[in-house]
Amino acid sequence: MDAKNRISELIDLINYHNNRYYNEDSPEISDFEYDKLMKELIKLEEENPKLKRADSPSSRVGGKPLDKFNQVTHKIPMLSLSNAYSAQDLRDFDKRVRDSINEGVEYVVEFKIDGLSVGLTYNNGIFEKGATRGNGIIGEDITQNLKTVKTIPLKVEDNEEIVVRGEVYISKENFETINKIQEEEGLQLFANPRNLAAGTLRQLDSKLTAKRPLDIFIFNLEYIENTELKTHSESLEYLNKLGFKVSPNYKVFSDMDEIIKHIDYWTVNRSNLPFEIDGMVIKVNNLSQREKMGYTAKSPRWAIAYKFPAEQKKTKLIDIIVEVGRTGTITPTAILEPVRLAGTTVSRATLHNEDYINEKDIRIGDTVIVQKAGDIIPQVVEVVKDERTGDEIIFKLPEKCPVCSEPTVRLEGEAAVKCINISCPAQIRRGIIHFASRDAMNIEGLGESIVTLLLDNKIIKDIADLYYINKEDIINLERMGEKSASNLVNAIEKSKQNDLYRLINGLGIKYIGVKGAKVLAKNFKSLDEIINADMSELINLEEFGDIMANSVIQFFKEEKNIGVIKKLEDAGVNTKSIVSEDKGLVNIFEGMKIVLTGTLPTLKRNDAKEMIEARGGKATSSVSKSTTFVLAGEEAGSKLTKANELGIPVIDENEFLEMIEHTSKEDVEMMIK
Ligand code: ZN
Repeated sequence: MDAKNRISELIDLINYHNNRYYNEDSPEISDFEYDKLMKELIKLEEENPKLKRADSPSSRVGGKPLDKFNQVTHKIPMLSLSNAYSAQDLRDFDKRVRDSINEGVEYVVEFKIDGLSVGLTYNNGIFEKGATRGNGIIGEDITQNLKTVKTIPLKVEDNEEIVVRGEVYISKENFETINKIQEEEGLQLFANPRNLAAGTLRQLDSKLTAKRPLDIFIFNLEYIENTELKTHSESLEYLNKLGFKVSPNYKVFSDMDEIIKHIDYWTVNRSNLPFEIDGMVIKVNNLSQREKMGYTAKSPRWAIAYKFPAEQKKTKLIDIIVEVGRTGTITPTAILEPVRLAGTTVSRATLHNEDYINEKDIRIGDTVIVQKAGDIIPQVVEVVKDERTGDEIIFKLPEKCPVCSEPTVRLEGEAAVKCINISCPAQIRRGIIHFASRDAMNIEGLGESIVTLLLDNKIIKDIADLYYINKEDIINLERMGEKSASNLVNAIEKSKQNDLYRLINGLGIKYIGVKGAKVLAKNFKSLDEIINADMSELINLEEFGDIMANSVIQFFKEEKNIGVIKKLEDAGVNTKSIVSEDKGLVNIFEGMKIVLTGTLPTLKRNDAKEMIEARGGKATSSVSKSTTFVLAGEEAGSKLTKANELGIPVIDENEFLEMIEHTSKEDVEMMIK
């Protein structure tokens, strides 16, 4: 058989077995045999590059890493839906729909899958282009990554141009498995399945994407050239027939009360699904009715997304432990009977301070209601007092530091109780963890457990010691090994070249966070200059007052601190300001106060903050009358409520990304109103 025919045969065979495995769940051959077919195909294609077909399943394993993603303009704008939060919102929507089309209406109700929205374009049956939503008009070309998603067909039996939209997600089970591996390797955990799916799809190296078991549900036929399709449900059936994995469990309704009942059911039962959903989507079924209703500037008038309230669970508070923070603050933490909540298993929750515990009357042994704030940090909402047995124990913060046994202090006017012993080992440990953290020196792999390991084995005593670690010193430590040891040493080495602000933040000067560190790095040429600065110079810096300026002076007065800095310099850690080049950005957010809240679909919170600050805006943390607008993500919580109360405009990530595209402040002001 010649190469061309064998390639065709292999493609057919692999596609057949893929289908058995992924869609029918009944594989006929072992993984080993499957890999053998794939390897043969890849080899033949490498030997005969001209014979490689666009729909070859070999692209499932990823290709060459990219430098960056290209931009794509969507053929059909990928709009976002407006949101509903209550049954009343849904009834209002129903009324708007009926008023505007003046005839009977049917709705399709689907799960709102908690993942990343993508658009897929097929030409002559071949999967040609896949893109992220971006700002709805322009997205990123992630075709190579999407080809690694096994449930996206590379070829379909329809020769017209077709554009579909779907949600890429990762199952709860795979999410837990990946987080377990991250944990074992000392890497940062993913906050939820959505973050994991989004991060994986935006990898420049598609071979890495291919290793993660992403999945997709297609939920809309965006474009087709010639069609007899009259309803959305017909189009989903058609897509299913073509081989797409369509939105599961979609249902057609003609009555809003029935829909509300259906939604109530899933509000309670969604935790039984193998994937995360964060709401339900209600769409008008009839396509010509949809056309008649049209669009607002931002979203279609014929659909709405109902968002579930933050998931709450009941569990037992087994114990309250206390931990000593970097600045000596003693923080109580609740130890909970593990419970699954919004995508992860929760076994701890912050209790903030003694006042918080007293106000809520939280006792050891209580049954409590927990939820995740902004869907990330678990917290105790309330105590179920009806379930008390009388055996609950009232908690008191210890009068001695649990680590160094020095007496603790509660300063006047502060809620926090502190250990003020500067040699307290707990504070040193926290200080090193802070030094390595993402906003500071950003040393990958140097998390809490590794810092503890290094301290316990007397490899380090302070932050500067990190730069004197040899691979040989750590290779034999428990849970370390060759690979992790060299990764760690490399990550530490790399951090020597960091911007000065990272080092300043990492030093952990009281009251000087990442923002203050940036101001210092911007206004002085080197760490030396900052050390020698006097009060009047510091106090004149933007956003600096007495307290911050004084704290800087005090910090550098300590001989111990100067000694550590000398050791860092000797090791070759950069202490000079790297003058950042003018990026030519216009201050479109000048004079604006912008509050970030919730989890954004694609941007990291810090990135959004940097984007605001680089354009002259101020990212503040609490909503007040002077707030210009709130940038809200999923499960935004109390800040969003407050913004609504005060009538402060709220925008989502897409609108924000659209603003960033503009180059005049006036344009942005128009968009806020
Ligand atoms: Zn202490």
